[in-house]
Amino acid sequence: MIRKLFKRVFGRSARARSAVSGAAIPFEQHGVSRDGISYGAKRVTDGLQAAGFKAYVVGGAVRDLLLQREPKDFDVATDATPEEVRRVFRRAHIIGRRFRLVHVMFGQETVEVSTFRRALEAEEAQTDAHGRILRDNEFGNMEQDAARRDFTANALFYDPTTQEIFDYHQGVADVQAKVLRMIGDPATRYREDPVRMLRAVRLSAKLGMTIAPATAQPIFGMKELLSNVPEARLLDEMLKLLLSGHAVECVKQLRAMHLHHGLLPMLDVILEQPLGERFVMLALENTDRRIRDDKPTSPAFLFAALLWHEVLTVWSKRMATGERPLPALNEAMEIVLERQRKKLAIPRRYDVTMKELWLLQPRLEQRAGQRPFRLLEQPRFRAAYDFLLLRCESGEADPELGEWWTEFQDATDERRAEMLVPDSDGGQKKRRRRRKKPANGAPAAETPVGE
Ligand code: ATP
Ligand code: MG
Repeated sequence: MIRKLFKRVFGRSARARSAVSGAAIPFEQHGVSRDGISYGAKRVTDGLQAAGFKAYVVGGAVRDLLLQREPKDFDVATDATPEEVRRVFRRAHIIGRRFRLVHVMFGQETVEVSTFRRALEAEEAQTDAHGRILRDNEFGNMEQDAARRDFTANALFYDPTTQEIFDYHQGVADVQAKVLRMIGDPATRYREDPVRMLRAVRLSAKLGMTIAPATAQPIFGMKELLSNVPEARLLDEMLKLLLSGHAVECVKQLRAMHLHHGLLPMLDVILEQPLGERFVMLALENTDRRIRDDKPTSPAFLFAALLWHEVLTVWSKRMATGERPLPALNEAMEIVLERQRKKLAIPRRYDVTMKELWLLQPRLEQRAGQRPFRLLEQPRFRAAYDFLLLRCESGEADPELGEWWTEFQDATDERRAEMLVPDSDGGQKKRRRRRKKPANGAPAAETPVGE
């Protein structure tokens, strides 16, 4: 006990000892100007400093500014406690139970303010049987706060007042060399938090940085640890990855490092079929493009795309046993979603949209009578049409179908009437019969989309 206290007061962890103690790098050497800092983050650092506290912009924002990229958001680290932070600002809320953060609001912008923390020494930390840290930190000082962060590039503190960067782990040099390097012993740090493996992949892909060999190497032997991570956290990280604007690169890297197995189990199988791989990659490219163009993207669309070929496979198998198309599709969707749920918990709130997208695919094949008009009125028509275009582009659906809908949705009434496909296959009779016995209230699929 006394030894522990002594160590806490006088000692430093091996990680902190190895650091260059707080080298302040002047503006001339790094070029990050105060102008790059958001209005809110400047207000927060100015306000805290005026109240006598230390306050720095920290983490991803400093790294992004060094790389001349626009930061997604700004985080501030300070030696003020959450209560002290809250007292300085008018619109500030303390959030989180385990480790409390403060959200300070300025109009649309929210700045996340955290008090310096330190990682606990091994004997103080609570870990699970695999070494994953369950309770990991307490208030600490700035140097300790740098040491608990994951990569050297993410452990930089920027003072908007002096325009200096405080760098304990040669992070500026690493960013300039575009190297992502784990602070401390990489294997230990992955064991503490296996999500860091996914973060390495995502950040390197997104920022065009190479993972330092010693940081990459342990990943190959440690990927199983991801199965101990709580599902919600895994999903969070997967969403960040898929919606990073660099999903194609990320998925390629995940595959190269054999990290995709536990995450999207079907991805393995799908990526091995040429049509499946093409479809998934096109869907990811499409999402990346939309994100870069600042267009909205929906996780449900993406998950629907990732699982589509799995649905197709199960659907066509069931139809091969004589099941009718629509019930077979409904069954296939349930089976695929259930299987996926056992791995990466895709939240149920996405189910409705995913199912709608899938169910609309066979309906897009119906081009006779009133049906195409009814489809145009569907709130999900646009998403279903985008989905169809990807299917056409991947070679799974007939391109002519996609072209037909492209023209139909913007055509004049006369042209639309001309475009309708005559109901020549006895569909009239079939429809009348079916109307008496609707399946799930949804129109019956007449032309199944098989493989
Ligand atoms: P992004 O640009 O995607 O936001 P980021 O690096 O800012 O990337 P955040 O998840 O916003 O990522 O985390 C903010 C900071 O918190 C990181 O820069 C890093 O210093 C620290 N951090 C986040 N996750 C971890 C982790 N798992 N282990 C250690 N430090 C972490
Ligand atoms: Mg961030």
